[in-house]
Amino acid sequence: KAKSSGKNHYQLYHEEMHKDESKQMKMEVGLRKALEQKEFFLVYQPQIHLKTGKIIGIEALIRWKREEQEIISPEQFIPLAEETGLIVPISEWVIKQACEDIQQVHLRGHSNLLVSINISALHFNQENFVKSVQAILQQTNVNPHLVDFELTESMIMPNASQTISKLVKLKKLGIKLSIDDFGTGYSSLSYLNRFPLDRLKIDKSFIENLNKYHDDSSIVEAIISIAHRLNLSVVAEGVESKKQLLHLKTGNCDHIQGFYITKPLPLAELIRFLAEWEEDLY
Ligand code: C2E
Ligand code: MG
Ligand code: MG
Ligand code: MG
Repeated sequence: KAKSSGKNHYQLYHEEMHKDESKQMKMEVGLRKALEQKEFFLVYQPQIHLKTGKIIGIEALIRWKREEQEIISPEQFIPLAEETGLIVPISEWVIKQACEDIQQVHLRGHSNLLVSINISALHFNQENFVKSVQAILQQTNVNPHLVDFELTESMIMPNASQTISKLVKLKKLGIKLSIDDFGTGYSSLSYLNRFPLDRLKIDKSFIENLNKYHDDSSIVEAIISIAHRLNLSVVAEGVESKKQLLHLKTGNCDHIQGFYITKPLPLAELIRFLAEWEEDLY
């Protein structure tokens, strides 16, 4: 390619860099405007209690509808939002919107449903994080026991003493605490006992490899067994097939979430889904 276009490697490399940089800059400019232009929205994916088939909660997942055009997934903009600090106001918006939406869901008769919210590392590390959460809970008047924060291992491992005190404060407010993408971050297990956690979410890469050539069944079973010994419940994410579901049910997993049940849905569609859900559907 370099030869046929008559350019040397350096030029090509330079042009690629330039393209990436300007794409990044355009995205940054777009991100700065996205909040005021109300371009973000949340979709919700139900979490099912495996034993009963009941829907116990929903996870809020952010989407960006950029300039009336394509929908951008969080994996494409969250890293830049973290880098630029824009994630802090975005994350505050997510928590507030999710709390307002769960109130709507509760008012429609699904009064015990939990809302799981993905928390950004940078937001969590702000000194006033707990205060900002407390303010949102008061404004929206949502029952904190029905709010679940999804944290990642890499977020809570550094700076352990400050982290623990924040987690304890959140716990005192009544908020549930889950570890997202469990098994992919730090391999230290000691924190599981030290932190006031409620749930582990097994990363979807392990669920994908259930019943495969590279079978991860023993890892999944071990995670469930450790979790239960520590009084934590277990959510499996990324469940795409009945086979995986049954495997997890046999393995005593508590909750599942995934395309097999439904993809994440905008609020109005979620409310319809909740009304139509039949517990013996599988
Ligand atoms: P996550 O929290 O681990 O979310 C799970 C991801 O798996 C979601 O991708 C979800 O749409 C997708 N998923 C659900 N079921 C299935 C399935 O059966 N198969 C497969 N292959 N995927 C499934 P999404 O929505 O693109 O979010 C990606 C990541 O972005 C999330 O991973 C989370 O880390 C982050 N994120 C999403 N929303 C927010 C947010 O509001 N705030 C923050 N800080 N991060 C967010
Ligand atoms: Mg999550
Ligand atoms: Mg996850
Ligand atoms: Mg993930």
